[in-house]
Formats: sequence, structure tokens, C-alpha cells
Amino acid sequence: MPIHLAHPLSIVDKAQTLWPASRLHELQFLGQQAAQLDMGLYLVGGVLRDLFLGRVGLDWDLALEGDLQEFLEPLQNQYGYGAEKPSPFLTLRLLGPENHWDLARCRGECYPQPAALPRVYPADLTTDLRRRDFRINAMAMDLHPDRFGTLLDPYDGRRDLADQILEVLHHRSFQDDPTRILRGLRFSLRFDMDLGPLAKTCMDQVLADGIFAMLSGTRLFRELQYLLQLPQPRQSLERFCAWGLGLLLPALHAPDPRLWQALERLSILQHRWQKDFPQDPLSSWLAVLMLLCFFSTPEERERHWQHWQWSPPAAWRRDLFALPAAPPGSAARAARYWRPWTPEGILVALALGDERLSNSARHYWKIQRRMRLPVDGKILQDWGIPPGPALGKALEMLQDAQWNGEIHDQHEAYHWLTTKGLLHR
Ligand code: ATP
Repeated sequence: MPIHLAHPLSIVDKAQTLWPASRLHELQFLGQQAAQLDMGLYLVGGVLRDLFLGRVGLDWDLALEGDLQEFLEPLQNQYGYGAEKPSPFLTLRLLGPENHWDLARCRGECYPQPAALPRVYPADLTTDLRRRDFRINAMAMDLHPDRFGTLLDPYDGRRDLADQILEVLHHRSFQDDPTRILRGLRFSLRFDMDLGPLAKTCMDQVLADGIFAMLSGTRLFRELQYLLQLPQPRQSLERFCAWGLGLLLPALHAPDPRLWQALERLSILQHRWQKDFPQDPLSSWLAVLMLLCFFSTPEERERHWQHWQWSPPAAWRRDLFALPAAPPGSAARAARYWRPWTPEGILVALALGDERLSNSARHYWKIQRRMRLPVDGKILQDWGIPPGPALGKALEMLQDAQWNGEIHDQHEAYHWLTTKGLLHR
């Protein structure tokens, strides 16, 4: 079915105000290349949605009506483009001299069974737009030189954007691919949108049918990670539960009210952390997941991990099992206690609400962790301590002394060792 344009709308002016000029130039160039081969080329998906929301998207998706290899040949041979090998889903990364693009053959999909990966077949743009997740993501911009910049919006995605609703393109959408529900949840949080009536009915239906039991655990886990990365974990997970998805994550089937408070504190702590330690990257999804696992039973979390085919990093698991944290009294002993902890573990320990931990954890991360002993084994040998266990012991004691604030430089270290009887003048 060709796309009927009652009133062609050019979005070039709008695009010019937001998109980098190099993107627009390259889109024109690529559109000309496709037209010379008698192929249709379109910019599609989230970047157009974002344009109407006044944002610049990060992913630039192109859809080609034509053979990928034929289109790539002149680009690679004459214009210095690189391209990755196409995936089984007829998609590839196109590496231009200035920009990278996600290029896909326009395709249709059929699903051998609910929640399975689709079989894809070459098709036209209309079919390609219809297989997409939501109407707001099913818009395209024509790149043909005669129509460059014309918006193709056969499902009225722009109206949905204005009405702030997320509507599916057909009633089997979530049954085909339930990850779309989790994508929808992310969009609803990011853009403050509600599900449209068809999407809501379809979601309730597939959840009642237990669709997520048919989805592979690894695909589910990938989507959950995106969700756990969102900036306001409490709001995200409250909506997750309100949509009836609580069974998909530990602790959310019947959440403990203390979990919500802890999530609230965790997001504040994460902001502080990123400001205080910009050089120490933090994995926010691992922190949120640790908190959820803390509020679940060991059997429940193991069941989820197995289903996701995920084995937690050893340090993360160690921190989880050590919660709630209990650092011992002196500054040196607390530093030794915190030393193996991951940043995520420390934040979760603090998010559990024990104010007493806060000073020792912050002191460790801000000061003690950055300390370097002013002496090493070689210097201690020069001072007369023989190699062997005595040397190791002396270094360990010096480390404690430094953490306790008793030594700051070599001179003080020497003096400290003599007062402890480990060195003789
Ligand atoms: P984001 O800003 O989060 O990257 P996006 O819409 O660009 O949003 P992508 O994951 O890059 O998200 O997907 C690009 C486009 O591919 C989407 O806009 C949508 O049209 C389509 N798409 C992605 N995943 C699905 C899916 N599971 N089912 C149907 N269409 C999808």
C-alpha cells in the first residue's frame, strides 16, 4: 500500500534548527545515492519523534527500500564509507566519514510463535513502519532529492505525540514482542505519556496470558537493565508495578514499603556520588538491582538470575551478602572493611538508611581510598627492616596508622616506626 500524502509536510526547516548541518548534508547525499539506484531511502524512528519533541536523538536510523549490498558498493568503493556485516535482521552500521548510521533494509516480520524472534523478509516502507512498536516511532522522512524532507506519518504519530499517548500499530503487537511493553514503559516515563486504549487492552490481555514466560530470559534482562538505568528508580518501578509487571523483578511482587524509601535515598546518593567522584564510574542499574535483591528472598533472586542467565559479578554478590553493612569502630578498621566494596554496594548500604554508616563510608571514599603510603618495602629495607614477614607487618601497620591520620609523610612514618619499637635509631 503506497503512503498517501494529502498534504505533504516538509520538516527540513524544523530539522535545520535542531540537527547538526553535517547530518543534513549527509542525508541529502545518501538520498541522492539511493535515488540513482532507483531505491527509496528514509530516515525513520526515534530521531523523528525526538525532533517533534524538540530534542536531538542519538540514534540515526535509515531504512532502505532496496538491496543493502548494491547500495553499499559505491559508498564503500568511491566514497570511503565503512560498513559492518549485516545482521540476520537485515540491519548494519554504516560508518560515514563524519557520521555513523544504523541502516536497515525495509522489512516485514512474522512471528513463528508469541514472543519469539521474528522471521524477516524484504518489504516496502509502509510494511516496515507497521512492524514498529508505537505510532510515535512509525514516522519517516523521505530522502529522495525530489521530496527531500517530506514527512511520512501514515499512522498519525504526531497526533499521539501531541495527545501524549503511546499507541500500538495493531492488536498483536505485544503478543509478537512483549519487550515492547517495557520499551513503552520507558517512553511513558521519559516523555510523560500514557498507554493508548488499544495498547492498554492488549497489555492486560497478554499479561493475563503470561506472555513474559514465553520471552527468553536474556532478552527480558536486557530490557530490564535499560529500565533500571532510568534516573528516577522509585518512579520507574512504581509505574512498573502499576502496569502489573511486578513479577518480573525481585522484591516487586509485594514490595516492602521500606524499599520505596531506600530507592528514593539511592537516587539522591547517586547524584551526590557522581558529583563527588566523577572519575569513579557508577553502574546505576547494578545499584538498583542490588537493592531489589536485598529486599527479596535468596530463593526469589536466584530464580530470577537463573531465568535471565545472569551470574552477578563476584564483588557485587559479595556486597549483597554483606548487607546491611557494619563497619567496625576505628578509622583504620573501617577503611579495611570498606576497601573491597564496590561503589554500588556502598551506596546501597547507605540507602538502607543507617546514618551511622554515612561518615565512615564517605571518609573512606573521599580520603582514605586515595591515600598512598609515603614509604614502600624498599625504603623500609634501607631503614634496616629485613625482608620477610616483619616487613609485611610493618607496611600493614603503617597503612593503618595513615588511615588513622597518624602519619602523613616519610619523616612521620620513620618516627612512628621507632616509637613502636619496629626501628632502632
Ligand atoms: P531511543 O531514544 O531510546 O534510542 P529509539 O526509538 O531510537 O529510542 P531504538 O531502540 O534505537 O529506539 O529503536 C529505533 C526504532 O526501531 C524505534 O523508534 C522503533 O521504530 C523501532 N523498534 C525498536 N525496537 C522495536 C521493537 N521491539 N519492536 C518494534 N519496533 C522497534
